[in-house]
Amino acid sequence: MPKLTICGGGNAAHVLIALAGQAGWEVDVFAPLNDEAERLRAGMAGPGGMIAHRGDERLAGRARQVSADPAQVIPGSTLVLLALPAFAHGPTLQTIAGFLEPEAVVGVLPARGGFDYQALSLFAGRGMSPRLFGLQTLPWACRIKRYGQEVEILGTKAATALAAWPGGEAAQRVDILSPLLAVTLTPVSSFLTLTLANTGQLIHPGIMYGLGRGQEPATFSGADIPLFYQGVDDATAAILQQLSDEVQAITGAVAQHWPQFNPAEVPSLYTWTRQAYPDDITDSSTLRRAFNTNRAYAGLRLPTRPVGPDTFRIDYQTRYLAEDVPYGLVVVRGIAELVGVQTPMIDEVITWAQAHLGRQYLVKGRLAGSDLKQTRAPQVFGIQSIQTMITFSQVMEVN
Ligand code: NAD
Repeated sequence: MPKLTICGGGNAAHVLIALAGQAGWEVDVFAPLNDEAERLRAGMAGPGGMIAHRGDERLAGRARQVSADPAQVIPGSTLVLLALPAFAHGPTLQTIAGFLEPEAVVGVLPARGGFDYQALSLFAGRGMSPRLFGLQTLPWACRIKRYGQEVEILGTKAATALAAWPGGEAAQRVDILSPLLAVTLTPVSSFLTLTLANTGQLIHPGIMYGLGRGQEPATFSGADIPLFYQGVDDATAAILQQLSDEVQAITGAVAQHWPQFNPAEVPSLYTWTRQAYPDDITDSSTLRRAFNTNRAYAGLRLPTRPVGPDTFRIDYQTRYLAEDVPYGLVVVRGIAELVGVQTPMIDEVITWAQAHLGRQYLVKGRLAGSDLKQTRAPQVFGIQSIQTMITFSQVMEVN
């Protein structure tokens, strides 16, 4: 039986444990954060193991071993899946690299931007070149109901893009991953597609900026916290549209420099939203309505933190900014710089977000901030020209 090791102990990891068990994989979990390994073990020790609820469906699985020690779970793994927020990718890869089998395939869901730059640099530094793949988004919206025991799949995307390194292996990865994840995966030509087509980098910071800008002093009772997706208004939809237009302009410019790159793999936000949620959106007449009427997004509110009894303020340290800006918008902003495309709205959102995060990425319109090295902008990995980026990506395809 092939062995899969899941890295992480959050929502996505819970879903994966249930699905992989169901699909007949031998599953181990690497969960080094805090006491997650113990809590997962304790949760799964019950008779049900790990249960994922999807509508009326009940999917059950169980991990064989859960450990905070990579030596116990990484060796022997055919497949290693990183089900982690992007800021944990680098530290996790560092920790597991020495235990990976030479033929192991390492996958990440979702990849976010620039995963290939980070992973290939890190592995090359150790004289390794494992096979990689990434998904454009997490295929599910999911939330843990009881830690180690139950997770709810709130929605499943109709299709999710998968890129591989070497690029020619994407179809092979899809054949293995589709039945494992029980979702439709679409192979795309390179990780650059995922970096540009990462819609979370537009949706999350875009809505935070649209709805959260100027609301810093505001307090809300629990019931009054504004809705995130259903709360998208015309002004916020216009921000989202402009962010998407700028990514389309960058994509077009990359395609001009690199004829093998297929810009059709990077749909606009409006197109992607309708493709990802064809059965969940009840009114797709405009971008705003597509967000407002998407059942998979229903009821989700702006991220907040408590500041008193039933009193909340918007949380500007949220992952919607802390993850999607340095591992998303800043990466595409770096590519824009390489192809000479102006990105006024991306710049506006990064400038606003970095002030809230206490970080410096953009300075006077250039990616020259002191915190740039904590991002996955191509420049951080020595990619200073579009030609270098193309060479890097082509190497990915031919190796
Ligand atoms: P989560 O918050 O539930 O998982 C976080 C987990 O990551 C932690 O429990 C821990 O196991 C691990 N982790 C965090 N920091 C770590 C560190 N420094 N070292 C090692 N491990 C660490 O996240 P999730 O909901 O499972 O999401 C995973 C990814 O999928 C994120 O990028 C998220 O933005 C994305 N995503 C999630 C959803 C969803 O519905 N859950 C939807 C779309 C995208």
